[in-house]
Amino acid sequence: MTDTPAAVELSGVHKWYGDYHALRDVTLSVASGEKIVVCGPSGSGKSTMIRCVNRLEAHHRGHIRVGGVELTGDPKTIDATRREVGMVFQSFNLFPHLTILENCTLAQTWAKKVPQKVAQETAMRYLERVRIPEQAGKYPGQLSGGQQQRVAIARSLCMDPKVMLFDEPTSALDAEMVKEVLDIMVELAAEGMTMICVTHEMGFARQAADRVVFMDAGQILKVAPPGEFFAAPRHERTRQFLAQVLH
Ligand code: ADP
Repeated sequence: MTDTPAAVELSGVHKWYGDYHALRDVTLSVASGEKIVVCGPSGSGKSTMIRCVNRLEAHHRGHIRVGGVELTGDPKTIDATRREVGMVFQSFNLFPHLTILENCTLAQTWAKKVPQKVAQETAMRYLERVRIPEQAGKYPGQLSGGQQQRVAIARSLCMDPKVMLFDEPTSALDAEMVKEVLDIMVELAAEGMTMICVTHEMGFARQAADRVVFMDAGQILKVAPPGEFFAAPRHERTRQFLAQVLH
């Protein structure tokens, strides 16, 4: 058997914001094609952990490898990693002054030097996939939150990422729009994308996750397949958290 490197590997990762110890000895290995849901109370370090994976935040101790390549301060490695790792944020982060199509072509033409025409074809293909090709000529402000988040997913997919990170992608959305975004994420999961999703959508976790990670106070307290995670939350903090999110 060949030793394929993990898609994402964190080992003994620590991170501080000033004196505040935000990640404490975080170790997690995500195989290619695996879907991980990360949950836990607000402020537990979930966002910080995934932001370290594409170096939006720098870790201070330990190792992070993406596709076997260690993330250091080296700008070349950071650029290469960001090309492999797509990220979808809670607040969409689309450029308001660019059309939907331009939002989806910009990084392709700038970072990957893809010719404009090819970039537009790719963009339209992914806008169709997230079921909003008819919105291509509009501006983000003219779209609903759910539509904007679907554009953000399409924009990431245009870069042909190996791993997708989602940072609470539905928590800024009105309830009726949550499903349209989760449906796209479930489809993406079924197609074999490697995904790390910070979300409190436990229905999504049950449906799509291979493993659920529970974080508290900067630490990973539990990692388990959804069946086990929801059936027998042995740890008191996990129990308290689940009691809140599952009502
Ligand atoms: P979560 O995603 O679980 O809500 P975060 O990773 O956003 O948690 O934050 C973890 C902790 O780190 C929180 O206490 C938060 O206030 C703190 N924190 C996050 N980002 C920063 C920052 N840029 N500067 C200082 N503290 C931060």
